[in-house]
Amino acid sequence: MSEDLPISGVWEERWHPLREEWIVVAAHRQDRPWIGATVSGPQISPPDYVESCYLCPGNQRVSGTTNPHYTRTYVFDNDHPCVGPNAPREPAIPSSPYRVRPAQGLARVLCYSPRHNLTMAEMPPDLISEIIEVWQQQTYDLGQRAEVNHVLCFENKGEVVGVSNPHPHGQIYATNFVFKTIEQELQASQRYHNETGRTLFAEIISAEQATNLRILYEDEFTIAFVPYFARYAYEVYVAPKRSVAHIHALRPQEIASLARALQQITIRFDNLWQMSFPYVMALHQAPTDGGDYRPYHFFLAFHPPLRRSTVLKYLAGPEIGGGNFISDTSPEAKAAELLAVPTIHYRESRGE
Ligand SMILES: [Zn+2]
Repeated sequence: MSEDLPISGVWEERWHPLREEWIVVAAHRQDRPWIGATVSGPQISPPDYVESCYLCPGNQRVSGTTNPHYTRTYVFDNDHPCVGPNAPREPAIPSSPYRVRPAQGLARVLCYSPRHNLTMAEMPPDLISEIIEVWQQQTYDLGQRAEVNHVLCFENKGEVVGVSNPHPHGQIYATNFVFKTIEQELQASQRYHNETGRTLFAEIISAEQATNLRILYEDEFTIAFVPYFARYAYEVYVAPKRSVAHIHALRPQEIASLARALQQITIRFDNLWQMSFPYVMALHQAPTDGGDYRPYHFFLAFHPPLRRSTVLKYLAGPEIGGGNFISDTSPEAKAAELLAVPTIHYRESRGE
């Protein structure tokens, strides 16, 4: 459908202002033949409760802990943490220029709901608001800890991004370091603010509003769009309109609005190919080390790995070897595709 639009053939380089790097948009070759591996398409939805699931209420986890019979969200310390209080205190000192330090911090798991099959796309906004409130509380609480300098909340969804358990859940990494992407965005935002006196992300929102080619959701408090400089085909940014550095600065009306936006975006994703749509989603927020991060603007970014229903975007020479993305699709065409689908979830439409 959108392949017929002239905007689908874009062939140019676009500047990513937050990463300060070029994205090569080579959408003219979107239809190049593909004979490589494909991923399986639509799956059967799992049941409400699964006895062998380590996230379902009342079940025992590998650590021996039994999950409570939780009825809303549920947060616990990851049984296989990447950073944690039990990491060796005195790692072996390597020779220069190598450096080492303890893997300090905390890693947590956030179950979105007791229901094994209830993804964000099928949640009513008030349940999504509860997840947002957990992100707020966790960011605030963990950010208070002396050893924590940044809180990364994220969700890996779907087998193609390595998630074997479909029970809807996210993760929280509270680390002693600031993740590279955030560091990069901070530098870009601070530099932009020094040079212009304006907030970079607020200007990105204004630019999206001015062209109105890629906006998927907008109300008084929140906006969602496929950014002009998208690296993944169906990449979507969801952001409050008011510049805040951390999610816990959002007010009740902004939370409710963000929940509606997240619901609409995840429904559009699922409706695109009538399947549970995989993605990596991360909250981009400023460090929690007490610094002045006013030029930074909190947002959520969805990075879906699929470029067609059964074809993955592989990161290869340019992305892994070179560090810049080649995008095979035009952000305008992908936004048009997402806008063309209904905002009632397909399973609800089918009466499932
Ligand atoms: Zn489960």
